[in-house]
Amino acid sequence: MYDTLFLDRDGVINYKLEARYVTNYHQFKFIQNSDLAIRELSKIFKRIFIVTNQQGIGKGIMSKNDLNSLHEIMQDKLSTKKKYIKKIYYCPHLELDLCNCRKPNTGMLEQAIKDFPEIKIKSSFLVGDSDSDIEAGNKFGLQTVKVDNNYTLYHWLQEISL
Ligand SMILES: [Mg+2]
Repeated sequence: MYDTLFLDRDGVINYKLEARYVTNYHQFKFIQNSDLAIRELSKIFKRIFIVTNQQGIGKGIMSKNDLNSLHEIMQDKLSTKKKYIKKIYYCPHLELDLCNCRKPNTGMLEQAIKDFPEIKIKSSFLVGDSDSDIEAGNKFGLQTVKVDNNYTLYHWLQEISL
């Protein structure tokens, strides 16, 4: 059993939009088999978190409430019986805010460790589609996996669960 799985959201769980932010559930579409992958990954990881940069909030394009309700629907689509994503960390700041949480900074990962001190970093992974995800994960000592349209979360699941 692995320990903790940190997932980036856009480009890992749901398709990115061209030069736009995903602000509501109508724009949120699971990447092929990513929902299935999350359910399967929950069998080999103790806990799954999302760590996501959501600059659209800082830009005033969506509110924290918009984001929270989108995430509630996402959780329900994964399952109405089980909460597969234990906690969702997001950074609402603009890049120029120079906050400590926006990836490639590690503030969201640090917060997760504060919330769940039992996390074992050495047997934990971060999966992302951007260099900033991989950089944040590596700085923090996590094992990192980069996905894209060809090598998706589902493909990685098949490798790691062998
Ligand atoms: Mg991404």
